[in-house]
Amino acid sequence: MTRPGGTWENWARTAKVRPQRVEAPRTIDAVQRAVQAAGARGMRVKAVGAGHSFTSIAVAPGVLLELADLSGLVEVDRERARVRLLAGTRLHEIPTLLAPYGLAMPNLGDIDRQSIAGAISTGTHGTGARFGGISTQVVGATLVTADAGLLTVDDTQNAELLPAVALGLGALGILVDVTLQCVPAFVLHALERREPLDDVLGSMLARAAEVDHFEFYWFPHTDLALTKANTRLPESAVRLPLPRLGKWIDETLFSNGVYRVACRTGAMVPGIVPPFIRLGVKLTGDREYTDVSNRVFTQHRAVRFREMEYALPAENVGPAFSEMRELIAQRGWKISFPVEVRFTAADDLWLSTAYGRASAYIAVHRYWRENPTEYFEAVEQIMLAHGGRPHWGKLHTLDAAALRTRYPRFDDFVALRDRLDPARMFGNRYLERVLGK
Ligand SMILES: Cc1cc2nc3c(=O)[nH]c(=O)nc-3n(C[C@H](O)[C@H](O)[C@H](O)COP(=O)(O)OP(=O)(O)OC[C@H]3O[C@@H](n4cnc5c(N)ncnc54)[C@H](O)[C@@H]3O)c2cc1C
Repeated sequence: MTRPGGTWENWARTAKVRPQRVEAPRTIDAVQRAVQAAGARGMRVKAVGAGHSFTSIAVAPGVLLELADLSGLVEVDRERARVRLLAGTRLHEIPTLLAPYGLAMPNLGDIDRQSIAGAISTGTHGTGARFGGISTQVVGATLVTADAGLLTVDDTQNAELLPAVALGLGALGILVDVTLQCVPAFVLHALERREPLDDVLGSMLARAAEVDHFEFYWFPHTDLALTKANTRLPESAVRLPLPRLGKWIDETLFSNGVYRVACRTGAMVPGIVPPFIRLGVKLTGDREYTDVSNRVFTQHRAVRFREMEYALPAENVGPAFSEMRELIAQRGWKISFPVEVRFTAADDLWLSTAYGRASAYIAVHRYWRENPTEYFEAVEQIMLAHGGRPHWGKLHTLDAAALRTRYPRFDDFVALRDRLDPARMFGNRYLERVLGK
């Protein structure tokens, strides 16, 4: 299906393009035809997911492939708990697809609006020191390559390419399906508490090691952190979900509605930000509930923001956090969005921010109507000094020369890209910057 190219814009309003052409293939064949036709015309081609990357990684100046209709479950291997999903499947659709088989994704990030192909292509992750990001769940994938052929990668075919294809930045080809290693469905017991920040900083590594999924948010201008500790329980465990009205009041009215008004006002009158944030944190109550895993992992985010996130060797998170806290105090910025700290296990994916090291993530955010540059670039210097690697889908300023020194397998990835896409059919300016021309 071809549509005239309208303007495409990402969620964060940081990237925009008017592609020459938009195609919405519904089948793998149709993706192959679209790639072949683009190649014959000498056009570049790129699939977009849900446009939830903050960087311009998904910008498709030539042919934009919109894969929302290439969605759904293709195959289930019950014995090995593996599922093959079409690439455009949105994360929020997956729990319903897996439910009849008693399966679930082992870990998720904060939201579930992304497509599976988009989420793995930038290294989307959640928290949990024993768990990797979503790309580590990938045990197979099929790509349409630059010659419009199909390349299957799994444990029996081209297995050596899996550590690149599972987190490929959209640079190696168009993913048409992705096979995930799932786990038996489970529920999570969630404990959310407001705690003194210094106590949390002192205990965070031990807590991340003890609790299945530990993370915290710190709102600048306060000395408090909101911690989240999620413990995995069998699917049969008694569920005590949040009452609907209470959940709506917390998440829709306060976390999104009132917060949006405050952020908007704060962008015009920055002086109101610190007292508002202090009041908001004071009013945030502790919560305890138990629910099906995806409902606990993910939330609804309606207030638009911009984000930068760096992965650090886990042991560096304390010193890096303290320097960042000091910096914010010194500069007097009025920051209405929290700093988020999460943890993941080491993995072996070539371009993973957690490649070869147990990692902690520090993410900084700013309301979308405020210019994040000064804040983000100053925090970025601290993260770089502590061995940081930037999230591929979130704002950062690094180029290929800087990234090469931070990823031991960077040149292997570039060599594979040279082999699979010598003419840079799947390229764009962001990929030129971070991988080279
Ligand atoms: C509100 C919000 C919350 C977020 N929370 C988290 C979080 O908790 N953890 C985290 O790590 N990240 C988080 N992110 C970042 C987000 O998960 C990533 O940027 C992710 O890549 C977005 O997925 P998408 O489907 O929107 O992909 P897009 O942004 O549309 O695309 C991302 C990349 O994937 C490529 N791609 C998409 N489909 C294909 C395909 N079929 N074949 C080949 N390449 C493809 C695109 O070309 C592009 O390179 C968040 C973002 C937002 C806006």
